[in-house]
Amino acid sequence: MSMRLRKQYLVTGGAGFIGSHLCERLIADGYDVLCVDNFYTSSKDNITKLIGSVHFELIRHDITFPLYVEVDGIYNLACPASPVHYQRDPVQTTKTSVHGSINMLGLAKRLRVPIFQASTSEVYGSPLVHPQTESYNGNVNPIGPRACYDEGKRCAETLFFDYHRQFGLQIKVARIFNTYGPRMHPNDGRVVSNLIVQALAGNPLTIYGDGTQTRSFCYVDDMVEAFVRLMDAEPGVTGPVNLGNPVEVTMLELAKLVLRLTGSRSKVVHMPLPPDDPPQRKPDITLAKRVLRDWTPKVSLEDGLAETVRFFRNRS
Ligand code: NAD
Ligand code: UDP
Repeated sequence: MSMRLRKQYLVTGGAGFIGSHLCERLIADGYDVLCVDNFYTSSKDNITKLIGSVHFELIRHDITFPLYVEVDGIYNLACPASPVHYQRDPVQTTKTSVHGSINMLGLAKRLRVPIFQASTSEVYGSPLVHPQTESYNGNVNPIGPRACYDEGKRCAETLFFDYHRQFGLQIKVARIFNTYGPRMHPNDGRVVSNLIVQALAGNPLTIYGDGTQTRSFCYVDDMVEAFVRLMDAEPGVTGPVNLGNPVEVTMLELAKLVLRLTGSRSKVVHMPLPPDDPPQRKPDITLAKRVLRDWTPKVSLEDGLAETVRFFRNRS
C-alpha cells in the first residue's frame, strides 16, 4: 500500500481505446492513475486531455519487461485487440498476454493489491454453445491465425487463477465482448470503425462473407462502468465474468444502421470471410448482473453508434 492520499491505479494499455476511457473515469472518481503503454496500437492523442493533470502519470513501457512501481491496484489492459493489430506480430501478442501477465501478477503479488485482467470473449473461440456462459470452455483452434490472441488470453486466465489459488492474490477476470465507441482506431479493421469510416468517406461498406454472422456490441461507457464495479466487488468475486451487451445484430443490420446514421449513400460490398471468423457471438450476462450490483448496459446501439459517428466525423 502506497503513502499517497488518493488511491492510485496502474492501467496498462491506458492510452488505448478502452484504457483511455478507463483512465478518465478513474480520475473522475477521485483516483490517481499511472498509465503504462508502449503505444504499439495507440498514440498520445487518446490521452491528451489527461496529460498535464496532477492526477495522471504516464510511463512508456512494454509490459513484457518487468516493472517496479508502487500502486494500490492494477487494471491490465495492455494487448493489441483487433485481428489486424494482433496478427501483425503474433509472437509479441502472445508475449504481451503471457509474459506481460506474469510481470503484472508478480507486481500485484509483491504489493498485495487486486489485479483486473481484460480477458476476452475470444476465449470461447468459435462457440458451439450459444449464448456463451462462463462455464463454457470454448472451441479455440490452437494453431490458427487468431490463436496468438485467443490462446494468449486463455493462458493469461490460467496464470491469474493459479496466482489466486497459489498465492491468495485478489483477481478480477473480465471476459469482454465486442466494445465500440469514440477513440476506436480508424485503421484497426474492426467492423464498427471500418463501416463508419467507409460510410463517411462515401466508400463501399465491406461486409465479410454474406453478413449474416452476428455480434453483440457494447458501448465503451457501459463497459468501463462494469470494470469499475468488478474491481470494487468483494474479494470473493474473481470472475471470469462475461461483460458485454447481449443485443445481437447481423453485420448486414449493422451496415444498414451505419448508413442511416451517417446519411451515406455508400453501397455494401461482400468480401471473403476471414478464417476462424465466429458465425455468432452473444454474451450471457446473468452472472455480471448478479455480482456487479445489477449492472446492465444502458446505451442503445443506435445512440452509441451516433456518438461514435460524431467522433469520426470530427476527426476527418
Ligand atoms: P487498444 O489496442 O486500443 O489498446 C491496447 C493498448 O495496449 C494500446 O494502447 C497498446 O499500445 C497497448 N499495448 C499493447 N501491447 C503492449 C505492451 N506489450 N506493453 C504496453 N502496452 C501495450 O485495444 P482496446 O480495444 O482498448 O483493448 C483493451 C483491452 O481489452 C485489450 O487487452 C483487449 O484484448 C481487451 N478486449 C477488447 C475488446 C474490444 O472490443 N475492444 C474485446 C475483448 C477484449
Ligand atoms: N467484418 C466485416 N467487415 C469489416 C470488418 C469486419 O464484415 O470491414 C466482420 C468480421 O468478419 C466479423 C465481424 O465483422 O464477422 C466483427 O469483426 P471485428 O473484427 O470487429 O470483431 P471480432 O471478429 O473480433 O468479433
